[in-house]
Amino acid sequence: MAEILYGKNAAAAINEALIRETEALKAGGTNPTLAIVRVGARGDDVAYERGAVKRCEMIGIDVKKFELAADVSEEELLKVIAEVNGDAAIHGCLLFRPLPKGIDETRVCGALAPEKDVDGITAGSILGVFTDKNTGFAPCTAQACIELLNHYGYELKGKKVVVVGRSLVIGKPVAMMALARHATVTICHSRTEALSEVCRTADILIAAAGKAGLVDASGLGPDTVVIDVGINVDADGNMSGDVRKEDAEQAGAYSPVPGGVGAVTTSVLAKHVVEAAARAAGASL
Ligand code: NAP
Repeated sequence: MAEILYGKNAAAAINEALIRETEALKAGGTNPTLAIVRVGARGDDVAYERGAVKRCEMIGIDVKKFELAADVSEEELLKVIAEVNGDAAIHGCLLFRPLPKGIDETRVCGALAPEKDVDGITAGSILGVFTDKNTGFAPCTAQACIELLNHYGYELKGKKVVVVGRSLVIGKPVAMMALARHATVTICHSRTEALSEVCRTADILIAAAGKAGLVDASGLGPDTVVIDVGINVDADGNMSGDVRKEDAEQAGAYSPVPGGVGAVTTSVLAKHVVEAAARAAGASL
């Protein structure tokens, strides 16, 4: 049976370190603070916000919420982003997307100061991921995959990593992060031919397509380490990943859905806020 890579264990280790780092920053006069900017009240956003606030409170990070009406104008939203940028007491900003139709998302995301971009939505952050530099921050879910592998002691160096999905939120950044850690990386997408054959070459398979059961036994070897990022909800409300659970259980290791990558994401967000506060204070963690 495969080793199960529970997100809560990786999250607990991250949180423990963050509590100490937050205390040290506060002792030096810096209160790590996250701004949350939410337009409207989509169920997924509200649920994620609840989890993020709880995680921040547990660690000692302050949260300042900006809740805007679903029909807010682009100019009003830009004013809020300018306020966040200009407030030295705010170190990081979580902006929920997608933004409502009619708002230029590229313009709004581009307006956020990269040093406060704790969820990797600005061009500066993406550049940082591609050049392995500290301009901004990696998207939290992509980094959560790396944190999960680190926590369970799976090194990327020299390993064959196959990433299924090429979005800017997960697929591309996680592929670049694996490459920066000296993995040999293959990126698959909806036009990839013989997907199972390609997946089967992986030592570490990161599935982020959003297609339930896309990868089955034919794409897995007995030692494959599976990081399943997919979140798929069926008509009965049951959640599953992109890799067939029964088949992942026969691989080397797998992260469950739910309970895997998703359980690490808010801790990564908190980690970025603390890092942003430390950078702003000129402190090293
Ligand atoms: P996305 O923007 O829709 O991208 C999906 C990617 O998967 C695309 O690159 C697409 O290829 C590829 N793909 C789709 N069908 C495929 C197929 N049959 N074979 C191979 N590749 C295929 O989605 P996303 O935002 O990256 O999210 C991916 C999944 O992660 C979703 O299930 C989402 O809910 C989940 N997610 C999880 C968390 C978490 O915390 N665990 C956080 C965010 C998102 P093309 O580029 O060719 O279209």
